[in-house]
Amino acid sequence: MPALMQIKHQNLDDVETIKFQIIQRVAYFALAIHVALIFIFYHLGASMLALANIFSVFAWASGINLINKGRHSLALKVFSIEVLLHSILVCATLGLELGFQFYLWTISCLLLVDYQLKLKHAFIYSLMLIFTFAALYLFFSDVVYSYAYKDFLLYINMLNIVIAGLPMVYAIGLIREISISQRIALTDMAAKDHLTKLYNRRFAKKLILAAQQKSVFTNTNLCLVMADIDFFKHFNDTYGHDKGDAILVRVANVINQHIAEQDIAVRWGGEEFLIVLTNTNEQNAFTRIERMRDNIAALNCAEQGGNLNITMSFGLIQWQSNASLEEMLQQADAALYKSKENGRNQTTIATTETDYTAELKSI
Ligand code: GH3
Ligand code: MG
Ligand code: MG
Repeated sequence: MPALMQIKHQNLDDVETIKFQIIQRVAYFALAIHVALIFIFYHLGASMLALANIFSVFAWASGINLINKGRHSLALKVFSIEVLLHSILVCATLGLELGFQFYLWTISCLLLVDYQLKLKHAFIYSLMLIFTFAALYLFFSDVVYSYAYKDFLLYINMLNIVIAGLPMVYAIGLIREISISQRIALTDMAAKDHLTKLYNRRFAKKLILAAQQKSVFTNTNLCLVMADIDFFKHFNDTYGHDKGDAILVRVANVINQHIAEQDIAVRWGGEEFLIVLTNTNEQNAFTRIERMRDNIAALNCAEQGGNLNITMSFGLIQWQSNASLEEMLQQADAALYKSKENGRNQTTIATTETDYTAELKSI
């Protein structure tokens, strides 16, 4: 089901398109079946049904045409009416043993997947189809099949059950994937900054605390790095806010390129970023951040020729056992401030005089 799998990675508008691509495929399949049925019914001697199938083919073809024109909801209504009339006619003529009535279930499922239809209306139409299904048993149970190939009735019935069942499984799989993709999109929206696609401050705190707990548990080091673009106000004033936004995105990309999968990059504030490096001690973190700093300074932000560079200052601290996140952030901030004071475009490692273990003991 590749189209179904695709849905997880799409936004919601694309999901609608994929949904109708799937329905369109089902419609082509149904069109082919109805063309075949013209000849099959004719061959059986049910020429009235063969004739009716010419209209069915016409209905499915116009439905496909409507989908191509983007009139999805109307197409589904055309399909529903066709299936409804077709089932009634076949059951009235050939009886229930062939199993053509099962398509009423399929179409009642597909109607519920149409979001353009109000839930109330979708329910009413779907229920009407189910009631029609039940009514077919009431009215046509005693219709006896009196055409050729009587021995095959059971197999045709089974075939119809399977063909009618597949789109139902497909439709429910579709609803499942849509709700999963919506949940992912909502979580992403709540967790990420929309400009840089890095974690936002509120969501990141939970992640950072979890990473810190893990580092205590696994006895590994964790480093916090506060980073701030140098003279960004001047950059904005000179080149405009939009250009500034583009720089923020490019800086975020460089940060992402320099961190490992389990590390955390956060847009902490306007042009300020927090980077959490897991499983890394102070020295390693310093080397990695210096490489990142060099690459940010090497970014050429000019669009058409020329040279336009920005730089970034960093403050780094290795998480001290028993220290709180706020204490560590303060220290990283202080180190960043030193980088700014000492001329910017540099990384400063925080020098902590506080012994957090002693602090804890005195409580
Ligand atoms: P310093 O080197 O001391 O950090 O100087 P600075 O100019 O970068 O610092 P300051 O705090 O004075 O200015 C930060 C600027 O960042 C001000 C604001 O215009 C800009 N800024 C904050 N958020 C955004 C944003 O989302 N987009 C853009 N384009 N600019 C932003
Ligand atoms: Mg700044
Ligand atoms: Mg700032």
